[in-house]
Amino acid sequence: MKRYVIIGNGVAAAGCIEGIRAVDADGSITVISAEQYPVYCRPLISYYLEQKTDLQRMHYRGESFYAEHHADVLYGRSAVEIHADAKEIVLDNGDVYPYDELCCCTGSAPFVPPMQGLDTVENKFSFMTIDDTLALEKAVTPESRVLIIGAGLIGLKCAEGLHGRVKNITVCDLAPRVLSSILDDKCAAMMQKHLEANGISFLLGTSAKEFQGNKAVMQNGAAVDFDVLVLAVGVRANTAIIKAAGGAVERGVLVDDACRTSLEAVYAAGDCTQYHDISSDTIKVMALMPNAYMQGHTAGVNMAGGTALFDNAIPMNSIGFFGLHCHTAGSQPEGCEMYEESDETHIKRLFVKDGRLTGFMLIGKTHRTGIYTALIRNQTPLSTVNFERLKIEPQLAAMGSAYRGKVLKGAV
Ligand SMILES: Cc1cc2nc3c(=O)[nH]c(=O)nc-3n(C[C@H](O)[C@H](O)[C@H](O)COP(=O)(O)OP(=O)(O)OC[C@H]3O[C@@H](n4cnc5c(N)ncnc54)[C@H](O)[C@@H]3O)c2cc1C
Repeated sequence: MKRYVIIGNGVAAAGCIEGIRAVDADGSITVISAEQYPVYCRPLISYYLEQKTDLQRMHYRGESFYAEHHADVLYGRSAVEIHADAKEIVLDNGDVYPYDELCCCTGSAPFVPPMQGLDTVENKFSFMTIDDTLALEKAVTPESRVLIIGAGLIGLKCAEGLHGRVKNITVCDLAPRVLSSILDDKCAAMMQKHLEANGISFLLGTSAKEFQGNKAVMQNGAAVDFDVLVLAVGVRANTAIIKAAGGAVERGVLVDDACRTSLEAVYAAGDCTQYHDISSDTIKVMALMPNAYMQGHTAGVNMAGGTALFDNAIPMNSIGFFGLHCHTAGSQPEGCEMYEESDETHIKRLFVKDGRLTGFMLIGKTHRTGIYTALIRNQTPLSTVNFERLKIEPQLAAMGSAYRGKVLKGAV
């Protein structure tokens, strides 16, 4: 009977458990979970602050998930070392767990750049976990002035979550636009306008140079008084344990399409890894929930002796703020052509290179974008579909009979 050990208990770990059990009903599965909670849907933490959900409904799987999959979870425990030659891991309490197959699903952690005087700020928070959210909830009052450093997805989701609970919210970012890693200037401007209309203030192109207690002095000389500070500058893949074990690591743990690391019998999945983005043909960290699940599942199947590949990864985001929805996927490689359609309420930008759709940004009208995503993921030659129709409206009728046949049989 094989012994499987999984480090981390997020969505990638859940995928890994399900992948293992798809092949092996008998092996033992042990999950090491630094957090105290069963696997939950991390993006829902802002909905918790908005009181649109509660801790119970944030679970990613049902209550009996671990029992049904015969997986033991060690809550509140961290793995601190991997001894790849001996095939064992060491926990923070000194316990040693032998394994036959190991998967590292350690996710990512908030990155806090050195900022002068940060230690003088008493009320400062990250926004990554349930515990961060509970602490933030406790710290704010209706009179709180909140400063959020970082206008990326996490910072803006935090702003939306806190809106309605506090007096005011200012978001600053060194980048000149919001959501700078997924939106271009025009799309970001529409989203920013919408956020401002909902009461969020922005200071862009500048960030905090120095903190003096509850005052931030910005690089452009402005000063912002606040009661609560949220640091949402970015995240870094948790790679240390693989690196220390001698595994290949760059920005993330290097994995192949089967989710194998460079260490024997050690796999990795989710936000801690970097892997191939087929839309831009580059290797990168893509810290995204669907990819984390699919990688975890792939790793699990392979750990259990099956065969699975995750070889069509693309970056994709589906988010909304105050009712305005935004879907993005793929990339905009140099030399690509752009098809655009826009008015006051929506923007659609499609990017095409070498006869294939490589990416899109959609704000406002975001229905049936799965069709565009499938075109990118499957690298479908646009000559095989009615792209003129698809540009105007994503619709199955324009996808060609071979594709529709696959969809209707559930193969896509
Ligand atoms: C506010 C917010 C909004 C988001 N919105 C979106 C969205 O709209 N769409 C989207 O696709 N993605 C979104 N994400 C990202 C998404 O949540 C992640 O991509 C996903 O959770 C990654 O899953 P994972 O299992 O790889 O890692 P994680 O969910 O980070 O889980 C890793 C777990 O491993 C634990 N761990 C780390 N090291 C150890 C160790 N040594 N021993 C034991 N345990 C350890 C960590 O504590 C953590 O619990 C959002 C994230 C946040 C924070």
